[in-house]
Amino acid sequence: MTQARKLAAGNWKMNGNRAALAELEALARAHPDPSVDILICPPATLIQTASAAMADTAIQIGGQDCHAKESGAHTGDISADMLIDAGATSVILGHSERREDHEESSEDVRAKARTAQAAGLVAIICVGESLDQREANNTLDIIGGQLAASLPDGCTAANTVVAYEPIWAIGTGKVPTTAQIDEVHDFIRTRLIRRFGEAEGGALPLLYGGSVKPGNAVEIFATDNVDGALVGGASLKAGDFSPIISALEAST
Ligand code: PEP
Repeated sequence: MTQARKLAAGNWKMNGNRAALAELEALARAHPDPSVDILICPPATLIQTASAAMADTAIQIGGQDCHAKESGAHTGDISADMLIDAGATSVILGHSERREDHEESSEDVRAKARTAQAAGLVAIICVGESLDQREANNTLDIIGGQLAASLPDGCTAANTVVAYEPIWAIGTGKVPTTAQIDEVHDFIRTRLIRRFGEAEGGALPLLYGGSVKPGNAVEIFATDNVDGALVGGASLKAGDFSPIISALEAST
């Protein structure tokens, strides 16, 4: 099986103004020649400035969402093409906060992913179970259903990343055991290979997300089929995100 590329991705959510660009500059100074991909997804207002500031660095900039339509009468929304025009290379889609706050279904996520990929963005597609679903032993059924419905046909290792983010671990400080992460990632990998073939499904990066911190990153990255992390809170400060990137580099 081809080795998936490693990715440390930060999701700033609705945090950060222009002053926060200093954190990006610090991150770029700390990782001038990284052996893994580094991506920061700031709020939409910062994408253009951040991508210009990071142009000569190894740090890529991404969006946190895009619309399923290419353009049109959708007040307040952002198209995939606009993200690219602003300098983004990737976009997070189907984050649990968008599935919940904006009632996005997996079918909505699939439509967005198709548009994002067609525009030339890497779609980082999030899946994850709630605590109730885990406690009812439904985790794999839920993840299987979300994967099948959220990923468009024709996903490749170059245009798609899957992030497993148990909802109960996001922003809570609670982290699944490595056995639990291993079980879900192994399941996702099998489904990806079955649907997209060994070459693409086997090499499509598979991230873990949910309370990744400098103190638990080494253990998480040592888990099979974990090709990196989608990091919320700990991506806001270079001093927290940098050791997570270094742990990923050391795991390769
Ligand atoms: C996230 O929102 O994708 C996330 C993983 O957040 P945190 O790292 O803060 O749990």
